[in-house]
Amino acid sequence: MESSTTKIENSKRSSYIDWEEYFMAIAFLSAKRSKDPNTQVGACIVNNDKRIVGIGYNGMPTGCSDDEFPWKKGPHTSLDAKYLYVCHAEVNAILNKNSGDVKDCTIYVALFPCNECAKVIIQSGIKTVVYMSDKYAYKVETTASKKMFDAAGIKYRQYIPKNQKIEIDFSDVDVIEMNQLPQTPTKQDN
Ligand SMILES: [Zn+2]
Repeated sequence: MESSTTKIENSKRSSYIDWEEYFMAIAFLSAKRSKDPNTQVGACIVNNDKRIVGIGYNGMPTGCSDDEFPWKKGPHTSLDAKYLYVCHAEVNAILNKNSGDVKDCTIYVALFPCNECAKVIIQSGIKTVVYMSDKYAYKVETTASKKMFDAAGIKYRQYIPKNQKIEIDFSDVDVIEMNQLPQTPTKQDN
């Protein structure tokens, strides 16, 4: 008969991140790559087999130097502000895809997509948008996005995190559990 101790030892870990946390966390981690001093946004595209097929973050187009093009805010039509140049995370994630297409995929994004990204999301065949924040819900761009998503049958829902923080500690890998330490040989072992 199995003892209760064996059962505990055979049970899987109870504290692990679920798929949704994992994909949203990857979107957030990708955002950390952005050079934008004000807004770091990331996106992660996942297919129906839960495989990641694209990730992206907001940044200047290839060849447009991060040091030469402006990062500052300002009028959206100003040549000296970032808006005319920056590629949003969603567009980069779609263009960076490592699969033939992103049809029927789900995109995980920190912020509700703007109208320009919404168009590209629809045209790419992505079917579901999972977002963390809708803080620009008052903007006309966001209303336009929702109008287009509704018309195109794109589902969108807010992700409510179970945990406020997911910590990554690189030193975890070096922690040795006591039962994994090599046994010091005793007399009987010889
Ligand atoms: Zn956008």
